Amino acid sequence: MEAIVEGSKYECLLFDLDDTLYPFSSGINLACRKNIQDYMRHHLQIEESQIADMCLELYKEYGTTMAGLKALGYEFDNDEFHASVHGTLPYDNLRFDPVLRTLLLSIPQRKIIFTNSDKAHAEEVLRRVGLQDCFEGIICFETLNPPALTCDGLYKPLSYISDELSSDMDDSDESDGFRPKSPILCKPSIEAMEAAIRIANADPAKTIFFDDSVRNIASGKAAGFHTVIVGRPTLVPGADHALESIHNIKEALPEIWDGWSESDAVLASTAAETAVVA
Ligand SMILES: [Mg+2]
Repeated sequence: MEAIVEGSKYECLLFDLDDTLYPFSSGINLACRKNIQDYMRHHLQIEESQIADMCLELYKEYGTTMAGLKALGYEFDNDEFHASVHGTLPYDNLRFDPVLRTLLLSIPQRKIIFTNSDKAHAEEVLRRVGLQDCFEGIICFETLNPPALTCDGLYKPLSYISDELSSDMDDSDESDGFRPKSPILCKPSIEAMEAAIRIANADPAKTIFFDDSVRNIASGKAAGFHTVIVGRPTLVPGADHALESIHNIKEALPEIWDGWSESDAVLASTAAETAVVA
């Protein structure tokens, strides 16, 4: 069910998950990077001396190391990769966050998670932090990369992405000529942003996108979102607002609540909390 705010400046809020809704200091990010490198070492038999640089370069080039590995032609099962990389993360470091929970539940607009992570990780994190019922749904790895569409190793956009958009994407990639295309769709690609807009059925001009990644924010702005960089005190290119912590959202963006009473917000949140996009 949608919570459309009559006459409101914003209708939808898209939230990144990792290092946006919980702090980088949790250690999840670093543990995840170590697990990816272990996977490259043990499952893909990549030379030890190359792993650290390759991991970083592929992350920079393709959005995620996984997407880069696939672009280079490494073959592995997506679910096995995610289970290996996320299965041993220090989830116990994540703390229940009642302050953020109350804050999110007071927001009247639609709220959706938009993450490159897989569904199991997203649900585990949300459960640990106590936010599992604060969102209308989750746009995650499986949402952007349905197994049936990528099993042949070829990139195919989601069926509801138009042919016109697909040809635009192909054209933009021909400029460098050398980079193999990854079969994985993920942030920060503009294609992933466009896919999220369509899946969420959101108007980017009335959507706020929160993310801790500078490049994701730049791409989100290019896609037409209002953008908020999280975890930094100052603006970055493409950011409309900067939040040192997601907890500062009310001070930085009071207009989210404009024209809404507290009871309206609770009703909207309750109505929207059940559907799962993924
Ligand atoms: Mg993040």
